[in-house]
Amino acid sequence: MKFGGTSLSSANKVRNVSKIVKDHSHHHQITIVASALSGVTNSLVRLSEQAKVSSSEKIAIELDKLSELHTNISKNSIKDSKIKDEVLENISSTLDELKRLLEGISALGEITPRSRDLILSFGERLAVLVIIGALKDIRVNAKHFNGAEAGIVTDEEYGEANPLMSITKMKISKTLQPLLSKGIVPVVTGFMAATQTGDITTLGRGGSDFTATILGAALSADEIWICTDVNGMMTTDPKVMPNARTIPQLSYSEALEMTVFGAKALHPRALEPAQENKISVRVKNTFNLSGPDTLISNDQSVDRGEVAKSVALIKDVAMVNIEGAGMVGKPGIAAKIFDTFARKEINILMISQSVSEANISLVIRRNHLEKIINTLEISLLGRGFANRVNAEDDVGVIAVVGAGMQGSQGVAARVFKAVAEKGINIRMIAQGSSELNISIVIKEKNCEKAVMAIHEEFGMGKP
Ligand code: ASP
Ligand code: MG
Repeated sequence: MKFGGTSLSSANKVRNVSKIVKDHSHHHQITIVASALSGVTNSLVRLSEQAKVSSSEKIAIELDKLSELHTNISKNSIKDSKIKDEVLENISSTLDELKRLLEGISALGEITPRSRDLILSFGERLAVLVIIGALKDIRVNAKHFNGAEAGIVTDEEYGEANPLMSITKMKISKTLQPLLSKGIVPVVTGFMAATQTGDITTLGRGGSDFTATILGAALSADEIWICTDVNGMMTTDPKVMPNARTIPQLSYSEALEMTVFGAKALHPRALEPAQENKISVRVKNTFNLSGPDTLISNDQSVDRGEVAKSVALIKDVAMVNIEGAGMVGKPGIAAKIFDTFARKEINILMISQSVSEANISLVIRRNHLEKIINTLEISLLGRGFANRVNAEDDVGVIAVVGAGMQGSQGVAARVFKAVAEKGINIRMIAQGSSELNISIVIKEKNCEKAVMAIHEEFGMGKP
């Protein structure tokens, strides 16, 4: 069971989580994964950025805030004074360690990707201290581990490390399995792991989900629960469409298509270990555990002629168009363009090229636009590859997802018709040959209207 930061952001919530763990531990062997309390990782990111230039006073102010947050929640969620004192003591020594690190960075005036990961790992380390205290307080036999101690081994790609699964599986089953057999509940920090030589790494933002599925795979879990603050994965954003509902079942591939859509979704790689080991993942609401949830499994079932299961909206994107007769019939142009994006470390969300080859359009996150546009001009225009590079930053992407679209005719037609009937112009289209996803680009101001029209057209809101 993985609990996200929003499930742990107050004393009441921590108590609620402990109670859930206790109730389930009577009949199941469970392992807990905790992510940092809400906002803490962001604050550590800020601290790590500021540390090289900040004074120790400034660092102390931020650290005080972290101390207050974790101390208050512990004080109000743990009754037993002996347990409470021990937790407070551990919080304070953990923060001392963090302080020494930040002062080291400040003295050096330099932060490396490796020390950054070490700093970011403190959010989860603090969270676990709080939870373990609350669990012991209600007599749950629990033991905490950081991800490295639990046995997650990664490569050295700091900030976005990749688990080395064979060794990880072996180590985890050695450390955690014996505890489970004895009825002890392991509580593991999400997000953090270590290289083979023991340097701390992180699994990328939202990485606690990944921790959960790595552990689940290593322990051959029956199910992996991602407990968050919404009722599973929804047909669309309920803020846009009030009749949006929970999607009861998704295949791994469908869920993967949906992971890019905003903060509430899963870490994009989290489904890999689950899929490889055919373990079902449930996305549940911590505050409504018996309410609707989403089961992600191998089953690519298409219920009730449901062709499209969800429609999502991705804002804050920009479309880049590269045009020119010089591109026609010339191998290597696309490679050149993609390489330019890659060298600037810019992720491409969507690609489209017509068969005339005179135009390639790409969609990227909007905040990357400035960084890329000049570079593209220099690397393409000057050499006669393209004669025009332009960008539109007032667009959004609408993505329609569903396994039922595969091999079924007329789905695209229905998407386009629904949008056209609202008088909305489509700027760009992409569908991978997996046929699980149709994505369109339209003006941002029309996005909500388009989402509503598509949600209606496919009857997604009907129970
Ligand atoms: N705390 C980390 C983050 O915010 C990992 C997680 O929450 O899953 O990215
Ligand atoms: Mg998260």
